[in-house]
Amino acid sequence: MAEQMKTWESRVHRVEPYTPGEQPKIQNIVKLNTNENPYPPAPAVQRVLTDFDVEQLRKYPDPTADELVSALSENYKVPKDQIFVGVGSDDVLAMSFLTFFHSKDPILFPDITYSFYDVWAGEFEIPYETIPLKEDFTIDPLDYISVEKGGHREGPIGGIVIPNPNAPTGIDGNVEMIRKIIENNPDAVVIIDEAYVDFGATSVLPLIDTYDNLMVVGTFSKSRSLAGSRIGFGFGSRKLIKYLSDVKYSFNSYTMDAITLKIGAASLGDTAYFEDTCQKIVATREAAKKRLKELGFSFPDSKTNFLFVTHEKVKATELFAALRKEGIIVRHFQQPRIDDYLRITIGTDEQMQRLYDFLEDYLKQF
Ligand SMILES: *Cc1c(COP(=O)(O)O)cnc(C)c1O
Repeated sequence: MAEQMKTWESRVHRVEPYTPGEQPKIQNIVKLNTNENPYPPAPAVQRVLTDFDVEQLRKYPDPTADELVSALSENYKVPKDQIFVGVGSDDVLAMSFLTFFHSKDPILFPDITYSFYDVWAGEFEIPYETIPLKEDFTIDPLDYISVEKGGHREGPIGGIVIPNPNAPTGIDGNVEMIRKIIENNPDAVVIIDEAYVDFGATSVLPLIDTYDNLMVVGTFSKSRSLAGSRIGFGFGSRKLIKYLSDVKYSFNSYTMDAITLKIGAASLGDTAYFEDTCQKIVATREAAKKRLKELGFSFPDSKTNFLFVTHEKVKATELFAALRKEGIIVRHFQQPRIDDYLRITIGTDEQMQRLYDFLEDYLKQF
């Protein structure tokens, strides 16, 4: 029998948490399940750690994160007061939800997308509606534009969140489509989550000069191989960043530690390494498209560091289990519309070869 809820429990804020991809402790696995970068961070990051003076940890870190913000400012050519940083883009996005989506009108995001959005909406009690992607998993911009402006949306729009490229589909929605959505929504904040933009898509960053309600969010977790350091950033108008910073400082002033600030700046300092790593992943991805097609898979065209695949004969759940037994970990989402798909992170050529070798052999029986 279920235990009766105590009175104090009835006063607790209870939420449905996000489930991150697993981090198995087993040795020698091929880990292709959380879109981490298979290459190490830039060499300068190692030097930061080797040279770090622990005496610095006695003091609180710089609450303005100036070293990192300055490096971002230089790298992306954006003024410092238009930059926000946080503990991974999850932190930047969560703070943005808390700050910008404070009305009774529902925020909109795709039905198939980053599965943290509905969790934050639940956490902060933000009303939301998911907008179904088209049959081919692309976004129809008119779904995010009100009927008065020539779109399909009936009813108010309290805000919009769209990852571009989208996850887990990998599809690049292109700048013109995103611009159309922003242009027709001057009354709500539009967040574009660019976690995967460095793998071949185009950023909408230049649009922050035109639209003061646009927030562009990025991360060091994927293209800069720093998922373990938790570094995220956001760009927007001065006003937008000011509102965001005010909420942050009323919540936790010291979100980023002294070592991480230096690591982030060091990573930004090595553009050649960054570009080389991204290019290697793009090349491996393009080869993977060819190879997986030959093996009977189909997938939307990806501009990210993963492929979202479905097989012509074998069910995704079955493949997932077979791969897992072989020590190859991929991601499966138990969710309507996509439960016959697997999301496979692009690893090194060697890791991908292990995947192809197994699949080639395993698929013979079907
Ligand atoms: C990985 C990911 C993030 C979060 O990355 P952080 O590690 O928190 O920076 C945000 N959005 C999307 C779409 C992602 O795939």
